[in-house]
Amino acid sequence: MTGLIPAPSPAAERRERILREAVLQGLLDPERSQLAAFVDLDGVAATVESLHRAFPSAPPVLHAFAAKANSLVPVLAELRRLGMGCEVATAGELARALAAGFAPDRIVFDSPAKTQAELRRALDLGVAVNADNYQELARIDRALDGRAPVSRIGVRVNSQLGGGTIAAMSTATSTSKFGVPLADRGSRRELLRAYLDRPWLTWVHTHAGSQGCPLDLMARGVAQAVEFAEEVNAAVGRRQVVGIDIGGGLPVNFADDETTPTFESYVGQLRTHAPALFSEASGLRDGYEIVTEFGRSVLAKNGFTAAYVEYTKSMGGRPIAVTHAGVQVATRTVFNPDAWPLRIEAHDASGRTKQGRSVRQDIAGPACFAGDLLARDRALPLLEPGDIVAVPDTGAYYFSTPFHYNSLPEPAVYGVRTAGDGRVGFELLRRAQDPWDVPVLEPAVGAR
Ligand SMILES: *Cc1c(COP(=O)(O)O)cnc(C)c1O
Repeated sequence: MTGLIPAPSPAAERRERILREAVLQGLLDPERSQLAAFVDLDGVAATVESLHRAFPSAPPVLHAFAAKANSLVPVLAELRRLGMGCEVATAGELARALAAGFAPDRIVFDSPAKTQAELRRALDLGVAVNADNYQELARIDRALDGRAPVSRIGVRVNSQLGGGTIAAMSTATSTSKFGVPLADRGSRRELLRAYLDRPWLTWVHTHAGSQGCPLDLMARGVAQAVEFAEEVNAAVGRRQVVGIDIGGGLPVNFADDETTPTFESYVGQLRTHAPALFSEASGLRDGYEIVTEFGRSVLAKNGFTAAYVEYTKSMGGRPIAVTHAGVQVATRTVFNPDAWPLRIEAHDASGRTKQGRSVRQDIAGPACFAGDLLARDRALPLLEPGDIVAVPDTGAYYFSTPFHYNSLPEPAVYGVRTAGDGRVGFELLRRAQDPWDVPVLEPAVGAR
């Protein structure tokens, strides 16, 4: 009997402990709270520690968390306390980074659509800015009006080396919407001229893509950015470009609880493909200053979602469990299940891991369209009403970025820490939305 069931991983055991405690404390309740999400703050601290350890300590590296991966202000504040900076891509994310207490010079503003007002705001604050294109550079010229910027300013380059397995996540393709192309005819020369004309352009930025991009493709993209920086510095005859922002994009393993690839293995790839990033080349005593922008790899495996099974049925011979987690918290998986498969774990009403023979079943969400499925034809102990499903690896880009279809409310999110005595403690990171609390515009007084 026991031989048939693989031993649970430490991470699965921890999820079970958290779930059992959450049920005991009423954070999950079949009537009052059928869906909730958890961020393992001890896990986050360990991940950030491994990120800091993977990179050399000099010159200092600013690890700017990509806010879009999980923009809950208490999560951002936790990452700030752990020594990270913050990468933002909209005014809303900038506002959240400031609310989380990041100093402006620890914030990096990337976006292909920055408005004039946003650029002025960022430059006034001293937030680092990566320009996406020449029109944006011209706006920065006008905003600076001859003054030296307080902000670190760079240009995002696109190596045009190619994409990964998920087209929507691949930004280094020949026709990507991001950055200034390096491989198009004449483009490199034009960009070099832009740097020579603007001594305050002191950074080069690249981000080769997210989930699905092979490590060596990412590292070769960084190598292209470094090579361009060396070209600028050689042409100017001094170290105008002092830093490289290498972006984020380290992929996450959604198949099991192993953390792979590691930050360390990526740094190994960077050392192989872009040695000048860390070397004394181009007259930089300790190599370039580095900014990173990891998002998914920092948070994904440190969060999970839990939902009650409301009903079960059989259709065409297929068992189906209708749960309270669907498209509103797993949007990418529901709309693009092949690119974004998620694991599902079966627990009983007390949060205990369910045992028993595996049965192929569909795990459905609550939304009103047939495709609202978390998993199809998945082998699990047969789910029953009142059971709980856990969805691991959803700490980034899932419950933190809900989809409001069907007026489904945003679930509560709890941070989890283990105290010295081994007890699991919770802190509220986001209140659950109350579906009965409907935002209604006041009838406009005196409207025509
Ligand atoms: C999305 C994004 C990131 C973060 O990507 P992850 O895959 O979450 O690490 C970093 N930089 C830029 C410019 C991005 O668009």
